[in-house]
Amino acid sequence: MTDPAPFVRFQRVGKTYDGGASAAVRDLALDVAPGEFLTLLGPSGSGKTTTLMMLAGFETPSTGAILLEGEDISRRPAHKRGLGMVFQNYALFPHMSVAQNLAFPLQVRRMGRAEIKTRVEKALAMVRLEGFGHRRPAQLSGGQQQRVAVARALVFEPKAVLMDEPLGALDKSLREQLQYEISRIHRELGVTVLYVTHDQSEALTMSDRIAVFNKGRVEQCGTPDALYDQPANLFVAGFVGENNSIAADIGGSDDGHVHATSPAGRMLATPAGVHAGKAVIAVRPERVLLEPAEAPHVTRLAGTVSERYFAGDHVRLVVKLASGEEVAVKASRLDAERLPDPGEDAIIGWRTADAHAFPPDRPGAAAAPPSPKELEPA
Ligand code: ADP
Ligand code: MG
Repeated sequence: MTDPAPFVRFQRVGKTYDGGASAAVRDLALDVAPGEFLTLLGPSGSGKTTTLMMLAGFETPSTGAILLEGEDISRRPAHKRGLGMVFQNYALFPHMSVAQNLAFPLQVRRMGRAEIKTRVEKALAMVRLEGFGHRRPAQLSGGQQQRVAVARALVFEPKAVLMDEPLGALDKSLREQLQYEISRIHRELGVTVLYVTHDQSEALTMSDRIAVFNKGRVEQCGTPDALYDQPANLFVAGFVGENNSIAADIGGSDDGHVHATSPAGRMLATPAGVHAGKAVIAVRPERVLLEPAEAPHVTRLAGTVSERYFAGDHVRLVVKLASGEEVAVKASRLDAERLPDPGEDAIIGWRTADAHAFPPDRPGAAAAPPSPKELEPA
């Protein structure tokens, strides 16, 4: 059996500005399956919006082609692509009521009045705003306005909805609530969604697949699990989830793992693209062991606790190694009584399968961003 034809295909798409002087998107190859929720995730300036705008028809690719259901739409006008759009700054018409805002895309499509009424009511129910049709956007909260924007993008039953940081202007709890709402709508309607965010936890929560953008290129595209458990490189390891990096030199390898040394000590890791020479050992904070017993395939490194935070469901320690590098540790709250305090010595470590030896960042490439600090010092 062959895979179903992709719904959207970016075929070696490039976009340059300033007469070719700067590239916003480079050689993009990406397929989106029908009904898929695909997120473009990456830091600011990595090319996410440009990619979405080319699909929407507001920008034209400089090279390559974009196919929609097998047809090259690279030069088709935006209004003939049948795609819904939601942006960060709601962009509702302020002088129209909510119902008029929702009716607008249907009137443009010359739909009959009775059908418009039915569709508008259905769209309002979908975003749980029944009874709000008569209000003006200014009479709604930010979250409600964004719900209307989502409804307006869906009301004409588009082939796909493109959303560019739609929750970016909302506070954290509202953002999380709307993440679930949008996921539910996606499930209920089965509509294809292309979603842009720079927020990795939002991407992990909502997506079927995530394409990680960096400097106009896709570093890796895969399911949230695959990106988290098998990041292709240090950039992805640092951008999706949190990651500790320890610089080391690989001395040798056997039996599927590598031996590495650094001023921090001797380490074992699973090779991820490098078997000799300089490497960076990457370990997730929740995979770091505290005071592990000596055992084959377990790395142990001595350090000193420099920080300790209470984080509700876990305790977070920062341990400084002899190399000066700091390692974040997520420890179980249940162990809180026997966890070391700042200033105390500690042995940290990991199972070889939980540590990956990556090649150091490519020269000139953006360094992996620092992991977002989840908390303020207690
Ligand atoms: P993101 O959405 O990931 O933050 P963008 O797609 O907006 O990134 O931008 C990617 C790069 O292209 C950035 O370096 C940006 O400055 C540049 N860029 C975007 N739009 C334009 C434009 N209209 N003219 C010139 N450069 C642009
Ligand atoms: Mg953007």
